[in-house]
Amino acid sequence: MSCFARIATLGVAVSAVLLCTSGYESARADPVGSAQKANGSTCDRSAFRVILDVGHTPKAFGATSARGQREFDFNLRLAKVIEQKLISGGFDKAMLLVTEGRSGRGLVQRVAHANKASADLFLSIHHDSVPDRFLEKWQFEGRQHTFSDRFKGHSIFVSHQNSNFAASLLFGRLLGQQLKARGLQYTPHYVEKFMGHRQRQLLDAEAGVYRYDQLIVLKDTRIPAALLEAGSIINRDEELAMQTPERQGLIAAAVVDAVDNFCAARQPGNRERIAHQPGPSSGSRRVAAPASLGSSIVARPR
Ligand SMILES: [Zn+2]
Repeated sequence: MSCFARIATLGVAVSAVLLCTSGYESARADPVGSAQKANGSTCDRSAFRVILDVGHTPKAFGATSARGQREFDFNLRLAKVIEQKLISGGFDKAMLLVTEGRSGRGLVQRVAHANKASADLFLSIHHDSVPDRFLEKWQFEGRQHTFSDRFKGHSIFVSHQNSNFAASLLFGRLLGQQLKARGLQYTPHYVEKFMGHRQRQLLDAEAGVYRYDQLIVLKDTRIPAALLEAGSIINRDEELAMQTPERQGLIAAAVVDAVDNFCAARQPGNRERIAHQPGPSSGSRRVAAPASLGSSIVARPR
């Protein structure tokens, strides 16, 4: 069980940040069996701290699904499943980060808490939508909603401005590979011109990792950081899929495997290899927020 505890009040604009540190569970099972690495090093799961950032807040809840549900609720539900999967796999220092409030200052506070937590990895959990011009109207349970079945699939974002960009990209790749290994396909539409200011550079065409430099939670975290858009909840079929324990469990298993691989790669002796991972070209395309993130989460003077 998770053990939420209110640990801080963060001033006027932001009401509070909830950090949950989960208790140790005795089972140190390795369900994925992937801890053993090529050079013989293994991941010390109990020493590795992952922060699972729940995207948005209860009040500023992000996207609205095709059936009128809040993105924040999808994010929280999936993050909890991932947290439990990490803990049952021995990552007992996994932390859930939930932020309240409305303003962009909340994002800064979110990053501040992540940086204070002495964590090894920051993963922000979101669910995707589409630009407004793709929205269509439909009726569900007697009410009008908007949807778009045009796109589906997950996507992963990292920032070149993160001080640990190479490691961030490595984790993004590992996560994308694990999702792909489970039959999940990323959405390629962020490379298309019709995405306008949301068009993005694809850093890894196999794993589905995009470059997203300006996002506060990716660029200002002083630890390796990635953002997962787990699926499109404006797509009517994928919205239903994202609510199933099967899909949530599949994604959680992919995260655990990716974290384990990343953790092992970060062991002494392997870090130098990560540091020399190639980065994106300097002539990259303009990058901007995924559709569901809106403008409030993008770094800009306030
Ligand atoms: Zn979002």
